[in-house]
Amino acid sequence: MNAFTSNASLVIHPTEPDWTPDDPEVLIKFLQEAELAGNTLNNDKNSFLVGEKFLDHISFMGCSPNIKLEDESSNGKFTFVRITTTKNITTLTGKHSFAPHCPHCKKPEKNWRELLLDNRITCSHCQQTSDAWSYNWRKSAGFGRCFIEVTDIYPKEAVPQFSLLESLEKEFGVEWGYFFYHV
Ligand SMILES: [Zn+2]
Repeated sequence: MNAFTSNASLVIHPTEPDWTPDDPEVLIKFLQEAELAGNTLNNDKNSFLVGEKFLDHISFMGCSPNIKLEDESSNGKFTFVRITTTKNITTLTGKHSFAPHCPHCKKPEKNWRELLLDNRITCSHCQQTSDAWSYNWRKSAGFGRCFIEVTDIYPKEAVPQFSLLESLEKEFGVEWGYFFYHV
């Protein structure tokens, strides 16, 4: 499923895949108050320009991050913040997802694309069936009903600060993590 607008994003999400806020507005308000997200972008009520304190919450690797925080060439290729909530657990894997490691035997499952069925994978090495999110995807795939997408970020270009994940946990009572969506 291509739920996202960007083909490369940093995605922050609750590690409990079934969790989503009762009202997404509460999450939006939290991100705006933390100034990670700024004003609404165009007519999409779930997309936001980055806020004044965006760089306090998202840490960029390398010495001169090549990020665009405005739509300079009007092609939509720039970094903004987008909230997605879904009714059911959504699988976000991409062309560049790594072979995930089985939680039982720890071996990588190379045929995961064929074996991933209803969010579960039966390991071809040990035959155990597990939830797809209990596999170790090394941050190359995610599962959930609530996603904070930071668009136009390629894998490992940027990561959320630990303090951001911690304050989300404090606010919502669930643990948060991140992965890179890259199609
Ligand atoms: Zn296994």
